[in-house]
Amino acid sequence: MSNDYTNQILELVAKKNAGEPEFNQAVKEVIETLGPVIERNPKYKDQAILERITEPERVLMFRVPWVDDKGKFQVNRGFRIEMNSAIGPYKGGLRFHPTVNLSILKFLAFEQVFKNSLTTLPMGGGKGGSDFDPKGKSDNEVMSFCQSFMTELSRHIGANTDVPAGDIGVGGREIGFMFGQYKRLRNEFVGVLTGKALNWGGSLIRPEATGYGAVYFAQNMLATRGDSIEGKVCTVSGAGNVAQYTVEKVNDLGGKCVTLSDSAGTIYDPAGIDAEKLAFVMDLKNVQRGRIKEYADKFPGVEYLEGKRPWGVKCDCAFPSATQNEISADDAQTLVDNACFVVSEGANMPTVPEGVDVFQKNNVLYGPGKAANAGGVAVSGLEMAQNATHTNWTRETVDKRLQEIMKAVHTQAFNAAQEYGVAGNYVAGANIAGFVKVADAMLDQGLV
Ligand code: NDP
Repeated sequence: MSNDYTNQILELVAKKNAGEPEFNQAVKEVIETLGPVIERNPKYKDQAILERITEPERVLMFRVPWVDDKGKFQVNRGFRIEMNSAIGPYKGGLRFHPTVNLSILKFLAFEQVFKNSLTTLPMGGGKGGSDFDPKGKSDNEVMSFCQSFMTELSRHIGANTDVPAGDIGVGGREIGFMFGQYKRLRNEFVGVLTGKALNWGGSLIRPEATGYGAVYFAQNMLATRGDSIEGKVCTVSGAGNVAQYTVEKVNDLGGKCVTLSDSAGTIYDPAGIDAEKLAFVMDLKNVQRGRIKEYADKFPGVEYLEGKRPWGVKCDCAFPSATQNEISADDAQTLVDNACFVVSEGANMPTVPEGVDVFQKNNVLYGPGKAANAGGVAVSGLEMAQNATHTNWTRETVDKRLQEIMKAVHTQAFNAAQEYGVAGNYVAGANIAGFVKVADAMLDQGLV
């Protein structure tokens, strides 16, 4: 689905962003599906939409100095990528992880533009974070870091400008510390961050939204074959926010999750991770901040696969929910050989391009992250709407909206793929549907 213009853009992006492999990977995966769209609307080429959409509107990089518990000065690097604001204020999470760098955040910000467009809500795309590692830090150290980080970030964000949220390493605790510091510096109580706690502006279902959404997306894909999650054996990677609520929703819908993982290894529980075991995981990960191995120590009949990812475990559906490039081509082949036929990505870009090819060649129902995990940012959008109108919606209302949005994301991706002659290809469908809305807004708004 490439053409001369899209190839030329990919060369340009590779040259301008040498040394940024993740960003180039994400751009390539989108741009190479857009050839037929550009041919149908030559204005996109005439008005340099691809040149513009691959260049962030603004990149902020800053020093984050803070003091640890021993009184030692520490310095981390902070980032915010304001990628595209054609259809709304920049919106996207903050990631705190030692691997964070410009390439990873630019890939995430780029993906976010198309994902946010698919949600049907008015949100542009952004992403940010730091190479700070919250693991092993005390609450005081995390607070000291978050306050310093927000001291600089507060100059650039705002409820109508740029609204960050959580991502890897940024949960309720970090959002709280950052919100407190923003309020203190700016003297205003506004919806400048999402993922807030319920008693000070948060939305019901926001913590659940990404995981629930990935399962709803899988349900929508399964429904195209007259099937459902009920009775399916599922593998899940990660053990954080997205993984936990993926397990909860699979259980709700009558499926069974048999794995969870963290960066040290995987637990395999053939009996299934039921509500009681999930409550243990939530306490272990969100309160004790322990390692997933402790699950295998606690419950009988559980195997711990040290240093391994879950993809060797037989399943019907896989929900990668940890990080980028966590499914290699070999992993994808193993999944297919084991008769896995649904992959719904809770994480962002968890499958390497060669792995995506394996899924597509084998007719797997493959939902790419920018569609399948859009539920998180969608409910962040609903949190913004509640903040702006000073109201709180019920759990039922938010969950219903989330289900409607995931259905709309699926429908748009499904229909766009059909319209462009690649039926069933959710990668191309999501890219095309997400792109057209943003590109048309850019055309309307002139050369900015
Ligand atoms: P959390 O920090 O809550 O959990 C991340 C989990 O993934 C942890 O179990 C962590 O293990 C594991 N992990 C992280 N990095 C690596 C790595 N390099 N190798 C192996 N395991 C790793 O993050 P979330 O659950 O919020 O995010 C998970 C994924 O979902 C990310 O790709 C994120 O971008 C995506 N996402 C999240 C959204 C949200 O609303 N939170 C929205 C949309 C997408 P360990 O503790 O050992 O590091």
